[in-house]
Amino acid sequence: MAVPFIDLSAQLDRIRNEVDAAIRRVVASQRFILGPEVDALEEALAKRVGAGHAVGCGSGTDALLLALRAFGPGDGNEVIVPAFTFFATAGAVWDAGFRPVFCDIDPVTFNITRETVEAAWSGRTRGVIPVHLFGQMAPMGEILELARERGAFVVEDAAQAIDASQRVGEDPAGRRARAGSLGDAGAFSFYPTKNLGAFGDGGLVATSDGALARRLRRLRVHGSTRMYRHETVGTNSRLDALQAAVLRTKLRHLASWTRMRRENAARYRRLLAGVGKIVLPAETDHNVHVYHQYTIRAGRRDELKAHLARRQITTAVYYPVPLHLQPCFSGLGGRRGQFPVAERASSEVLSLPVFPELGQERQEEVCRAIREFYDS
Ligand SMILES: *Cc1c(COP(=O)(O)O)cnc(C)c1O
Repeated sequence: MAVPFIDLSAQLDRIRNEVDAAIRRVVASQRFILGPEVDALEEALAKRVGAGHAVGCGSGTDALLLALRAFGPGDGNEVIVPAFTFFATAGAVWDAGFRPVFCDIDPVTFNITRETVEAAWSGRTRGVIPVHLFGQMAPMGEILELARERGAFVVEDAAQAIDASQRVGEDPAGRRARAGSLGDAGAFSFYPTKNLGAFGDGGLVATSDGALARRLRRLRVHGSTRMYRHETVGTNSRLDALQAAVLRTKLRHLASWTRMRRENAARYRRLLAGVGKIVLPAETDHNVHVYHQYTIRAGRRDELKAHLARRQITTAVYYPVPLHLQPCFSGLGGRRGQFPVAERASSEVLSLPVFPELGQERQEEVCRAIREFYDS
């Protein structure tokens, strides 16, 4: 039985009529850029995230870039980012004129911590980007505390973590906050394979800072608030109405898809219990993980991946090269051995299929093949 890594057609099959109607609505209106569909999505997502404002833009990368430009100009000042994340986190920092400074991660969650951020701090640090990697939030309390003490901004990279949440403070019955609502701004991606995916590129910045939201709205339309008057130099990064209409439709299903991802994760935990050479993802007790990826650590990772591929089971390595070792950042002085936890993760991680429609049978197939590999 072949097991794909993700199957977007299976998702579409269940919502095709709703999505078709949404697309027809936009086509009939002939309003394609921003406009009422985007306004409605922004309003829904601001509420969903628990932020005062949401500003749609062209991609998740642009969401990071616009937020950073709103805190700019970078002028070579430093922004701390994890060494283990998708490239865009650091690429946006670079593009905004800041210098990306990498830090190591926690071996259990793959996320940065106050301690790893503190080790990378310098007199030129102006900001920090915690990435909620694979769908579980970085420890925001301690990171925000450090940033507040030292007057730095915090932009959450929530591209993989829509609807993930975390308890605020130590009280077990205390308030929970969603990814993207705790930092100065939170960046989201609607890349098609993300938990909430568009039919193309799309992104959004959430913030509760009204002045920041106004700057973001200006930056996405060439720095202008009135036609042909430009207060600052911005760019063209707008969310289009077709994407917004698709996203509004899918948003109605997101909670149930997240529930299915979490059920799949729980099933992996049962089916893979006791398999010797792997470590399963841990959900820390103050977090609700949305399992954008179900990422294990595996001994002989590349051999396991090849074995699964022979059984027609598709898996993925996110991410095989830590960012301090990327050729484009060689001028920043990164060297092998600098971030041992991130480097080790790059050589051990393997993401298994966890998409909502995966189903028990295919999951059992994946787990049988993993056991078979380590038993032989
Ligand atoms: C997907 C992703 C981005 C970039 O989003 P795009 O919409 O592809 O530009 C940024 N950071 C992380 C962690 C991501 O997973």
